[in-house]
Amino acid sequence: MERTAIHRRVEWRTATVVERRKETDSASTLELHVAGWPGHDAGQHVDVRLTAADGYTAVRTYSIASAPDGDNLELTIELLPDGEVSPYLVESVAPGSPVDVLGPIGGWFVWHPEQTEPIQLIAGGSGIVPLMCMLRTRAQHNVTAPFHLLYSVRGPESIYYADELARLAAADFGAAITFAYTRTAPPNWPAKPQRVRAELIATAALPASQHPTAYVCGPTAFVEVVAGMLTQAGYDASRIKTERFGPTGK
Ligand SMILES: Cc1cc2nc3c(=O)[nH]c(=O)nc-3n(C[C@H](O)[C@H](O)[C@H](O)COP(=O)(O)OP(=O)(O)OC[C@H]3O[C@@H](n4cnc5c(N)ncnc54)[C@H](O)[C@@H]3O)c2cc1C
Repeated sequence: MERTAIHRRVEWRTATVVERRKETDSASTLELHVAGWPGHDAGQHVDVRLTAADGYTAVRTYSIASAPDGDNLELTIELLPDGEVSPYLVESVAPGSPVDVLGPIGGWFVWHPEQTEPIQLIAGGSGIVPLMCMLRTRAQHNVTAPFHLLYSVRGPESIYYADELARLAAADFGAAITFAYTRTAPPNWPAKPQRVRAELIATAALPASQHPTAYVCGPTAFVEVVAGMLTQAGYDASRIKTERFGPTGK
């Protein structure tokens, strides 16, 4: 059984950047090699520590995007133009560069392949990252429990993992995926761009009568509004799990 998170050693390890590839115009996926990586559960995160030549360090938290895969780990990072760390990770860090990684961290916002109940995933922007890890882990373990994803993006060009999501939706026991476009919808899209609203939750999310577990991740305000709408829709509050990507205090 994979459920060994509490036994995994959480310690700083030196990782090496294997590859940095563009995910969208404002996000990159980093593949890291972390010698001795103990594995992780879907939904967990790591702390990444950068150290400058003068010894100055900065630490930021990033969800793990990849399903467990030996000593390799993928993170997907969104560029915040006025941020301290994300511009370096998204635009500059080169293959071969070292970064320190602490983890895996987190035991609540996780999905285990032995869970059999229906799962409702709701992502806002880069909040898709830990949910993608759940989708990938589900596919890795051939889990057939229903998975629905509601993914709020500004426009089609903002979708992370677009091709892979389409493949996962088309596969046997595929995940049902609904996009919510907030600024630009693709041509012929049946709805005008709008934020996730109760009407969309009512039509796109699993009904409360199926007793789903929900995982909601994204900017703090998004998560709070969506969790409130799920409660209104009859979801059991103890089955609504949330992860917030709020600003880092300086
Ligand atoms: C559990 C968790 C998982 C995460 N996973 C991901 C992920 O998978 N991908 C991802 O892209 N991000 C993720 N994040 C967010 C990430 O940790 C960073 O916050 C993000 O990358 C920004 O870092 P930065 O150094 O570029 O920006 P920062 O320098 O930290 O600034 C971030 C923003 O906040 C503003 N800001 C900073 N400090 C303050 C303050 N005191 N008051 C008001 N505004 C302030 C800045 O102006 C900027 O707009 C996650 C966060 C958490 C908590």
